[in-house]
Amino acid sequence: MGKLIEPERLKVLAQSHYEAHKAVIKPLGKQQKRNLDDLVQQWDAELFEEIDCLECGNCCRTLGPRIIDTDIRRLAKHLKMKDSEVVETYLRIDEDGDYVFKFMPCPFLMDDNFCMVYEKRPRACRDYPHTHQPKFYKRMKVSLKNTFTCPVVYHIFRRLAEET
Ligand code: SF4
Ligand code: SF4
Repeated sequence: MGKLIEPERLKVLAQSHYEAHKAVIKPLGKQQKRNLDDLVQQWDAELFEEIDCLECGNCCRTLGPRIIDTDIRRLAKHLKMKDSEVVETYLRIDEDGDYVFKFMPCPFLMDDNFCMVYEKRPRACRDYPHTHQPKFYKRMKVSLKNTFTCPVVYHIFRRLAEET
């Protein structure tokens, strides 16, 4: 069976395992933090071999990435627009005072799940779901939320709950 999980089913599964997943978040020693990073990065690589983002696209449909000034400049250049036009056309300020897309699904997401601005996509889009990056222990709470959106993160928490 493939690892990709249809979004509605992922929400149900993430909810049903929520307490078990939450329980893996606990204080860790230095070596445990390093071991955790090794495990999570290895699983991230394995899972992204099996899960094709082009068959999923759930983050682009449901999460609003934080857009920073350098993202706006890069998008404006790419779209041959002024920075202010990008802001006016695509962005709004959220409750934390950050720029996010005005509408979700993302205005740059195409029907086939390709990103129209892929080479110039915002930093937050490049980094999501952050499971390839070090210091996973610092992002465990937000990653727990991501189990409801990203099948890769869900599988990582499943493995952490079962194997550690
Ligand atoms: S900019 Fe591209 S990668 Fe980012 S949310 Fe939109 S479609 Fe997805
Ligand atoms: S990063 Fe996760 S949620 Fe986003 S498209 Fe890829 S598998 Fe789906």
